[in-house]
Amino acid sequence: MGMCGDRGRNGQRGKAASTEPTRVYRETGALFLFGAPMTKPKPARVADLVGLLNHLYPPALAEDWDNVGLQVGDPAAAVERILVCLDAEELAVAEAERVGAQLVISHHPLLHRPLQHLTPVDAVGRTLFRAIRADIAVFSAHTNLDRAADGLNDWLAARLGLDACQPLEKPQPGGFYKLVVFVPRGHETEVLDAVFAAGAGQVGRYDRCSFRSLGTGSFRGGKGTDPFIGQPGKNEETEEFRLETIVPAAQLNKVVARMLKAHPYEEVAYDLLPLANSRSDVGLGRIGRLAAAIDLQQFAARVREQLHLEALRLVGDPGRRISKVAVCGGSGASMLGEALRQGADCLVTGDIRYHEAQRARAENLALIDAGHFGTEQLMVAELSLRLRQALAERQLPVEVIEMTAQQDPFVVVC
Ligand SMILES: [Zn+2]
Repeated sequence: MGMCGDRGRNGQRGKAASTEPTRVYRETGALFLFGAPMTKPKPARVADLVGLLNHLYPPALAEDWDNVGLQVGDPAAAVERILVCLDAEELAVAEAERVGAQLVISHHPLLHRPLQHLTPVDAVGRTLFRAIRADIAVFSAHTNLDRAADGLNDWLAARLGLDACQPLEKPQPGGFYKLVVFVPRGHETEVLDAVFAAGAGQVGRYDRCSFRSLGTGSFRGGKGTDPFIGQPGKNEETEEFRLETIVPAAQLNKVVARMLKAHPYEEVAYDLLPLANSRSDVGLGRIGRLAAAIDLQQFAARVREQLHLEALRLVGDPGRRISKVAVCGGSGASMLGEALRQGADCLVTGDIRYHEAQRARAENLALIDAGHFGTEQLMVAELSLRLRQALAERQLPVEVIEMTAQQDPFVVVC
């Protein structure tokens, strides 16, 4: 099946050609484009960073109640410096002002519920006022960062020495589409490159995943058409590839727009099929095994050391052996049932309440409450590391600064 069209919306065969070929000169070691010295790479915009972060931590993975993404700021504003922090609070905006950052990237969102008014009389209002006055944008990656592959829970599991990790949360179906598009032979690479660049084709840790099969497309151009192949009003047949790839729901519009732009036909035949598949590499929490079984007390000491904690709370016999461990950064007590179901010896999380601790003790599941802050603060260093790598790959000249001044609101008194 296939439908052909004209030679492109601009009347040229294929895509628009630039009005003048790009000329690059080398002179005394400096690179010149159109005679102008390329002294600086193109500055990054807030929108570039939003795109990059949404690619790494797809917003489609976030909980329905969550509010992730750009909280405040102009997508067109230039960014030279980023501040990464746990909480989007006034302290973070003040630190961004101090270090000259134009974008704050936080884990916990600044805006949780719709605003009834915007005045600087409460903490959220003061933070918003200060950010807007200082032209500082705020972006948050929250439950999408928790669920993502190579996200917060993978970092926490790796820090505690867990191997062969899987998401603790049951797989969530949906959130993906299959794109099927019919492309004349010879144009398949161009179309695939375009959709891959827009976020299609990612399967776990593999990218550029697709399938193609060759067949025969048939079509007849109606009145006023200018087919790319053949003549209007005549039955035509041509060799076409059926290309198939997977697209996250959050990237669907962008992928389709890029596909249409790269496709040579006037009328493109394509299908978007919602998928019931679930991904095995994303979800809340992680469960894995320690390289060797150790006592709960020894493991608790490791957690305290690795997460740089003054103290933590423990449920269970300190002498019991621990091998299979579940983790969930932040408030993960709701994962207690899943940890039990999957046979974990111990769950490491924060914000555990009395009756949850009581239930775990009765069910013989050890608990380590390392605190909400304690199990999430590592995102500052880990996210910064990945951002620096991703920015370097994209040649975006942005400096990433880690915020170290934020503290756990709880203090230990002995
Ligand atoms: Zn949290």
